[in-house]
Amino acid sequence: MTDGFYDFAASLGQLQQQGLYRRRRVVDGPQATLIKVDGRQLINFCSNDYLGLANHPLVVAAFKQGVEDYGVGSGSAHLICGHSRAHHALEEELADFTGRQRALLFSTGYMANLGVVSALVGRGGRVFEDRLNHASLLDGGLLSRADFQRYRHADVEDLRQRLDQASVRSLIVSDGVFSMDGDLAPLPALAAVAQQYQAGLMIDDAHGFGVLGNKGVGITEHFGLTEQQVPVLMATLGKAAGSFGAFVAGSDELIEFLIQKARSYVFTTAMPAAVAEATRASLKLIRQESWRRDTLRHLIAQFRSGALQQGLRLMDSPTAIQPILIGDSHKALQASQRLIELGFWVSAIRPPTVPAGTGRLRITLSAEHTPEQIDALLTVLPEVLL
Ligand SMILES: *Cc1c(COP(=O)(O)O)cnc(C)c1O
Repeated sequence: MTDGFYDFAASLGQLQQQGLYRRRRVVDGPQATLIKVDGRQLINFCSNDYLGLANHPLVVAAFKQGVEDYGVGSGSAHLICGHSRAHHALEEELADFTGRQRALLFSTGYMANLGVVSALVGRGGRVFEDRLNHASLLDGGLLSRADFQRYRHADVEDLRQRLDQASVRSLIVSDGVFSMDGDLAPLPALAAVAQQYQAGLMIDDAHGFGVLGNKGVGITEHFGLTEQQVPVLMATLGKAAGSFGAFVAGSDELIEFLIQKARSYVFTTAMPAAVAEATRASLKLIRQESWRRDTLRHLIAQFRSGALQQGLRLMDSPTAIQPILIGDSHKALQASQRLIELGFWVSAIRPPTVPAGTGRLRITLSAEHTPEQIDALLTVLPEVLL
């Protein structure tokens, strides 16, 4: 690129200086708790494959059969000729699983959030989002051209005061499980406020789907909330489901409306049908094998009690996301680097993924971890955090 256009070198140098430079590591082989990274075997504590389904033999077999049946490419958008029997069946199964009238597949969670938020509110409307919402929800709010406000994290009073002044159409949007903190949104209170002010409520359950609740439906099951209380439920399929893509579930009218209006749905190629077939297989495992959720719960409890014994400061997270706050980005990066040298892969999360000054290690647990792997991590954590 020409120098006159943009000073890339200066910009990159600045990121490096601030400890915010990001680099990729090359993985060989499938997602697993033992993973080969840049040629070395590490114990993986970064993946969102919470149930260990990303490389499950039945999911892999369904994917292969899907390719046999449908080929690789979907050929076009869902509204042209790309909406296969496999996509349709997965949507019906997701609707049934979440107990909602219908579900709609999106190619990624990022796109679902952009498309849904900007379809539901526009110029003249208002969007209220938790400060710590995922970037895709925040970007959806910006894209919508509505009056976009961020309320204090999980602070329903702050939200209520902002809503007080709003007489126009308003949408409240929150992560269900906060992706970098692991805590839960105060969903019953959010639903009550939404009802009181006749606002819409959209929940992104990327990290609750498959994991929370006895059946694994996610945060709505965890809190026992109905479709009426949480009308717009979104979740991704690339995390606990171990596959790829995302969906929105709700009323028949909501889904019909999104099919017409969500631009990231209309103007993009459908995910390969084989991906939908793989996801159908993983959804079956989510429904049938509740032991994965039980095992994960035990491992989370083991990690938290062990960490407290070590004197580590944990965040208020009941989920598989167990961050350890460090603050300084350089220090977070150094801790992550030292862990890699010791054989553990834990990512350092820095701004702008998290607010300035809140760099952290983000440890994620999987049902496939052994208690010994967790103990091994707990043994080395205090020394890398010095
Ligand atoms: C991962 C994630 C997304 C994005 O989903 P993709 O399918 O990866 O695009 C959206 N919201 C939250 C809360 C996430 O954690």
